[in-house]
Amino acid sequence: MATKNTPKKILLDESEMPTQWYNLVADLPVPPPPALHPGTHEPAGPEDFAPLFPMALIEQEVTTERYIDIPGEVLDIYKLWRPSPLFRAKRLEELLDTPARIYYKYEGVSPAGSHKPNTAVPQAYYNHKEGIKKLTTETGAGQWGSALAFATAQYGMELEVWQVAASYRAKPYRRTMMEIWGATVHSSPSEVTEFGRSLLAENPDHPGSLGIAISEAVAMCVADPEARYALGSVLNHVLMHQTIIGEEALLQLAKVDEVPDLLVGCTGGGSNFGGLAFPFMREKMAGNMNPTIRCVEPAACPSLTRGEYRYDFGDTAGMTPLLKMHTLGHSFIPDPIHAGGLRYHGMSPLVSHVYDQGMVEAIAIGQRECFDAAIKFAKTEGIVPAPEPTHALAAAIREALACKESGEDKVILTALCGHGHLDLAAYDAYLSGEMVDYDLPDEAVNEAMKSVPVLG
Ligand SMILES: *Cc1c(COP(=O)(O)O)cnc(C)c1O
Repeated sequence: MATKNTPKKILLDESEMPTQWYNLVADLPVPPPPALHPGTHEPAGPEDFAPLFPMALIEQEVTTERYIDIPGEVLDIYKLWRPSPLFRAKRLEELLDTPARIYYKYEGVSPAGSHKPNTAVPQAYYNHKEGIKKLTTETGAGQWGSALAFATAQYGMELEVWQVAASYRAKPYRRTMMEIWGATVHSSPSEVTEFGRSLLAENPDHPGSLGIAISEAVAMCVADPEARYALGSVLNHVLMHQTIIGEEALLQLAKVDEVPDLLVGCTGGGSNFGGLAFPFMREKMAGNMNPTIRCVEPAACPSLTRGEYRYDFGDTAGMTPLLKMHTLGHSFIPDPIHAGGLRYHGMSPLVSHVYDQGMVEAIAIGQRECFDAAIKFAKTEGIVPAPEPTHALAAAIREALACKESGEDKVILTALCGHGHLDLAAYDAYLSGEMVDYDLPDEAVNEAMKSVPVLG
């Protein structure tokens, strides 16, 4: 039905790979609110972040420079899988019988199988350059832990990972991957930290959460002056590293003379979404295009659509600086029924800010619609998506079907930010009919919101 003929894959040569990351902050009409010190509630300074991050990343976190050069060593490692392909989802379009044209930027070609190595590699690089020999981190679905394990292996660094217990049990092969690259993996809550021990004493089968695993990884980092901590999403420098996705996609769409009408991305902590969307927001602010930009989150963990825009902690124990973000409350733990990933209680402060400013939209979708979209996608395009981007695919399909009704031939762009080869248990639950949608009750949100600090 769609008429315009484009190649199936739009590829860039290695020599065409962008050599700078883009910093959205430089172009925002209203600057985003600063992080606050958890004790004084004053804006947090570099010294507050110094026990956790190397100085180069702290500078990137607060910089207002528009572009940051990607170090040559990082570009060399990026070339193991970058530039990543942009695909036209023609076979999916045909199945949907839509005049819309759907493009997806595929990040599952990376060693870890997702977009996470785009920031794991520079984070390991800057720590290594400042003489750090060991990193600590958390991982939920396992994508971030494996990305950082791959990255630290490039520099012979040590890595200790706290993997959310439910995921540690359900995804043993993610642990194996991390171990192949040399990392040590703990189930979280763990016996290694005081916070972990206190939670296990209450419940030896504790399922864990991302916020708890962050608390454990931060505690172990702070206790060891030689170690630093790495975060796989949420922070400004992480989203900036991911902008290589959007910069490449801009070049690729230009090659086929396409301008997007709609960008959709799944949002957990906001990094793959920001990575794809921010360079397009720059073009939109400059008047070069006018796409609608939409975040898609799970109905079971809807921080943007049902959370509040408040200062909250990034972790469950309340150890991190306070970040102004859309939050469900740092004590929020998504119901175990939810299999679709994106389980973090908060949202990147930058994505929260642009949402608050009305520069992007947000919707929440239930998991069965997401997996239904993923099956349609896998049957036509071949790739089995990670559970997280199924949210973006479901939103893209909604739009493509609306185009079928209206006859509009919109150009839809999304990030297929990972493959789901190690997430087949979630597909199994869907195919066997065990997966149910979960209506998050208001009481659960209200209860967790009580954990958000009230600032005077
Ligand atoms: C980690 C991860 C996410 C969620 O994190 P964002 O920062 O929101 O991108 C989404 N998809 C995949 C494949 C991931 O690995």
